[in-house]
Amino acid sequence: MADSRNLYQEVILDHNKKPRNWGALADATHKSEGLNPLCGDHIHLSLRVNGATIEAVQFEGESCAICKASASMMTTVVKGKSREDAEVIVNEFRDMATGKLDTASSPHHLGRLTVFAGVRDLPTRVKCAILPWHTLHAALNAQASTSTEADADPAHTPVIGL
Ligand code: ZN
Repeated sequence: MADSRNLYQEVILDHNKKPRNWGALADATHKSEGLNPLCGDHIHLSLRVNGATIEAVQFEGESCAICKASASMMTTVVKGKSREDAEVIVNEFRDMATGKLDTASSPHHLGRLTVFAGVRDLPTRVKCAILPWHTLHAALNAQASTSTEADADPAHTPVIGL
């Protein structure tokens, strides 16, 4: 447990200091803006999709460390993947962060993203970690903006009672 906590902190710090794929794509085919009013996270995501493949993905904005690290890792993971594979990971990440997917006992495609499994014990941070994934889903589905508080929120989970 101590090891996974240390890894989590290392990953968050590293991606927060040096976010990967930072900025906006000049030739984006898909864009979305994500808001998490609970924390104040506000990110912009731009993608270049060619056929079924996500060729490039970048993000920028103002967010807390967990959101930024999650977004940074997300860009490295989904770049080069098919839209379909990316959506599978979106769902798995959401289920892991909300405690519905136990990555230790169930098959998944999350790889090193499992460092975020610990947010399930931090209800106020769950939406910070999910926001980039939620925004990716919105961008792939031609929604210009999304919020973790929206009615149609596909990642919506009642935090109370977790
Ligand atoms: Zn946040």
